[in-house]
Amino acid sequence: MSDWSKEEYKAGVLVIGAGAAGLRAAIAAKDSGADVLVVAKGKLAVSGATFDNLDNELNYQAAAGFRDKSDNPEKHFQEIVDMGLGMVNNELAWLVAQNAYDRLTDLEAYGVRFKREGDKYVQLVGCFSNIPRTFITEDMANVRDSFRQVVERRGIRVLEDTQITRLLVADNRCYGAVGVRGEQGFVKITAPATVLATGGGGAIFQYNLVPAGATGDGYVLGFEAGAGLINMEFIQAMLGTPPMEKRNFLPTGIFKDGPHFVNCLNEEFLEKYYPAPDLLRNAYKARLRHQPFSTRDEAKFIDIGIAKEVLAGKTSENFGIFLRKDRDTSGVVLPNGQAEVAPFAHSFNGGLAINFEAETGVTSLFAAGEVAGGAHGADRLGGNMMPASQVIGERAGKSAALRATRQADNPRAAESAEEEFQRLRSVTGPTHVDFSHTLDHLRWMMWKKCLVIRKGDNLSSALRTIDNLNDILAQVNCSNVREYVTLKSMLTLSRLILAAALRRKESRGSHYREDFPEKDDKNFGKPMMTHKDSLEEAVV
Ligand SMILES: Cc1cc2nc3c(=O)[nH]c(=O)nc-3n(C[C@H](O)[C@H](O)[C@H](O)COP(=O)(O)OP(=O)(O)OC[C@H]3O[C@@H](n4cnc5c(N)ncnc54)[C@H](O)[C@@H]3O)c2cc1C
Repeated sequence: MSDWSKEEYKAGVLVIGAGAAGLRAAIAAKDSGADVLVVAKGKLAVSGATFDNLDNELNYQAAAGFRDKSDNPEKHFQEIVDMGLGMVNNELAWLVAQNAYDRLTDLEAYGVRFKREGDKYVQLVGCFSNIPRTFITEDMANVRDSFRQVVERRGIRVLEDTQITRLLVADNRCYGAVGVRGEQGFVKITAPATVLATGGGGAIFQYNLVPAGATGDGYVLGFEAGAGLINMEFIQAMLGTPPMEKRNFLPTGIFKDGPHFVNCLNEEFLEKYYPAPDLLRNAYKARLRHQPFSTRDEAKFIDIGIAKEVLAGKTSENFGIFLRKDRDTSGVVLPNGQAEVAPFAHSFNGGLAINFEAETGVTSLFAAGEVAGGAHGADRLGGNMMPASQVIGERAGKSAALRATRQADNPRAAESAEEEFQRLRSVTGPTHVDFSHTLDHLRWMMWKKCLVIRKGDNLSSALRTIDNLNDILAQVNCSNVREYVTLKSMLTLSRLILAAALRRKESRGSHYREDFPEKDDKNFGKPMMTHKDSLEEAVV
């Protein structure tokens, strides 16, 4: 067995994740006087969905009343709640709506530039919204540089290439975390307050629009530590263009032209999935308003129809459906008048349940950004993740700083660190194991059984497959421990999502159950929580 090195660090506030939320939390904690250490499995201001982004811009909803003078935080709040279809934590939604613009001005103070025409900001209407309150960043290089510089100027310590694998918890209080640095460096960080900001988990699906590292580690870290998860069944699926190596968003403008969707047998199939053919026009009109799939309007038949043809195998080699158009009024040019289209996973609407201070159910463990749940519901207002990451990130950093003066040592937390070290050593072996087949198996399964179309028997069989994959993994020793740990965590995350999707026997927002196609407010009108104790109950 090869040797592991060991390193130890201490901090007042440990921030796990160096995306927009983690860095905003780190800045707030530092400005509140705490000694801050940021840890990231990738690079600062490079890794994560914020910075490693397919788009060259970030949309940011903030009610400033510029373009639409009647806009205000109350209207912003109301739209978040309306889109959430009963699944939003109103306190968090209000926090975001009320503070979104102040946090945007912070970003400007860090150097982030937002697009302007003359002396006016460019402001658009975001997905699902009715009001032009979305600001747009000028370019990603400027966003990355601004965050990097503000972190450097404040002298915030950063540990890159370090993957956290366990939170140190005793008596339901968090005392820091441990993980792997480089290939086999064991790192222990003790801190009286910890902020989890590890981003979303779209990369557990075969086709996705997120960076490869978006494997949702934080949901699992928090869950294993005893924190509750909310709304895990609500995941955004968008139409994109395969294959993965060339993937991109399908611009919604395409629906202006009344496109034709054609399978590999050259059959135009959408009308087959409609209750009434007239709805097709309405569906295209509704689809123009939002990029993510939702069961809330007629546009659902488009995504469901495409997904059904894909599942029936009537696809191109890239598992796509062909999109053709006769006219061009949208300005979206298709090479040879044709594109391939398939459903792609995007952001998670749910995550770790937090209170108004951004604290999870585990004392001194805070969460912000995509890993935190409650600020969004069954559907999410487009461009609302960025303000949530800044508002809740700032709140988490400040709250964590208030705990930074406590003693961080606890003998049982130290035992937990040693246990994790032994676990990592026990899976370490001399051979490099190729996990690509297992990963592919998991991702294809999640894509087919849990993205757009969900059905009870498919979800249950997927859960059984996860158990089998876990059994196989338990036999493995390997030199690539980080890949092993990531795969194990992805299996747990998939289990959490499948279990939540199985429990919600209705269709609402982004969650569509083919066997329960209607919304059922009577039985499922409230958000569902997943805890360690409740998971097994959900799976049977
Ligand atoms: C293509 C694309 C476009 C988008 N456009 C918009 C938009 O315009 N407006 C909007 O509001 N939202 C948008 N979103 C969503 C939004 O960008 C993300 O939800 C948000 O950036 C997430 O920020 P975050 O800080 O929570 O996480 P991320 O930016 O994903 O950062 C996560 C960080 O955690 C680190 N990390 C992860 N796991 C570990 C671990 N185990 N140990 C240590 N570190 C770890 C990573 O290295 C990274 O530094 C978009 C998403 C995508 C994919």
